[in-house]
Amino acid sequence: MILLQAIPALQDNYIWCLYDPSVRRAWCVDPGDAEPVIQFLNQQQLDLMGVLITHHHPDHTGGLPTLMKHWPHLIVIGPTHSPTTVKINTPVVHEQLINLKGLSLDFKVLAIPGHTLDHICFFNDTYLFCGDTLFSAGCGRLFEGTADQMYASLQRLAALPQHLQVCCAHEYTEANVAFALSIDPHNVRLQRYQVAVQRQRRQQQCTLPSTLELEQQINPFLRCDDPNLQQTIAHQTQQTITSARMAFSLLRKMKDHA
Ligand SMILES: [Zn+2]
Repeated sequence: MILLQAIPALQDNYIWCLYDPSVRRAWCVDPGDAEPVIQFLNQQQLDLMGVLITHHHPDHTGGLPTLMKHWPHLIVIGPTHSPTTVKINTPVVHEQLINLKGLSLDFKVLAIPGHTLDHICFFNDTYLFCGDTLFSAGCGRLFEGTADQMYASLQRLAALPQHLQVCCAHEYTEANVAFALSIDPHNVRLQRYQVAVQRQRRQQQCTLPSTLELEQQINPFLRCDDPNLQQTIAHQTQQTITSARMAFSLLRKMKDHA
């Protein structure tokens, strides 16, 4: 049986770990720091087979050199167009199928540029590892790509099977929900979600994974085609909104300055 663990790292990152206790093998996603990964693997007596990298940022790759020293045969699957300083030994491209050796799991790669230009995600019929592109009730900042690229990438994720468990790389949910409610105050599911998230955070619990089904209901960045949302965004920015894409671009700027 495959299990999933969110390993907290750095300030508010999660390093997701997929593992099979019966064969004692594991893969992890975006190891920004090696120490908490090694600690978890030792605790569970697991051997690290490989790593998935969604994009080049240091809080997603900083643990690689140490992990590769501990496991010299480590498979590091990541974007083809990342800077060469990130030691990816198995570069992948859009729509490529990959197999997580030792766990007998297949994943598919999608290109989702916006937060960075090299950003990719990995999904199978259970999990979506979306790095810093989609957060619960939010989305990633635009460091390298354009708002149009990010909008298209989020649409690409939103079209995946709705039951997928959305494994985001940061615990940003509580602040994202507060911002979402300022745009979408009458959304009953969002109001209920805030109560649940606040309770989880008071107990220092992880609010993830989410699901795409939930995100479609509560995440304003996936709801830019909603006329009520567009009206609020138009009102708050004093702009005339002519498309969902334009609403997204304005909403992203509002969040940047929130
Ligand atoms: Zn990032």
